[in-house]
Amino acid sequence: MTKILLVEDEGILRTTLAQQLEAEGYQVLTAADGERGLELAREGSPDLCIFDVMLPRLDGLSLCRIVSKEQEVPIILLTARSAEMDRVIGLDSGADDYIVKPFGLSELLARIRSALRRASKHSETVLRLGPVVIDFASHRVWVNDKEVKLSSKEFGLLATLMRNRGIVLVRDTLLSEVWGMDFEGDPRTLDVHIRWLRMKLEADPDRPELIKTVRGVGYRID
Ligand code: CA
Repeated sequence: MTKILLVEDEGILRTTLAQQLEAEGYQVLTAADGERGLELAREGSPDLCIFDVMLPRLDGLSLCRIVSKEQEVPIILLTARSAEMDRVIGLDSGADDYIVKPFGLSELLARIRSALRRASKHSETVLRLGPVVIDFASHRVWVNDKEVKLSSKEFGLLATLMRNRGIVLVRDTLLSEVWGMDFEGDPRTLDVHIRWLRMKLEADPDRPELIKTVRGVGYRID
């Protein structure tokens, strides 16, 4: 059953929406403030999140930024005014979609379905790049049809680079994406892991064809 986390401080709206979503066959977790919402996002493993922007304790935009960094779950923001909407779009909140209040149930349901569809496409994606095949759902990687065992950091690095093909990822971005926002270790950790990845994936690790070094900047997969 698809699980939706709804964080909304207006009691009547929260209760009504939860009932309507349950009537549509969704399982619904609810929270009335941002902090409780964050707890439920972490513990409840929702398939989709709906966050109101104006929330007590932790506002919806901050909540959205935290959750989208921690997990790959589609997030729909509920905004009250068009002025608020400008901020929602302008800021890199990590939201997949937003909907302006007041809205109809059918509109919300349509947004939910489309966000879930995009998310499942994303998680089912198997990417092939030359001899390398990466399955994002099962976290498995093959080179020339032979499975290669990667550590979770190696997989994280490869997945991040593959998802951003053609873009140079600067070192800080890779470190925060794979090791977490508060990475304070030796930044050479990144180069060591890239080296290990190349040894597992490249025909000649000293002349990498897959993971390119962009001197002084970071790494790139084309
Ligand atoms: Ca509110």
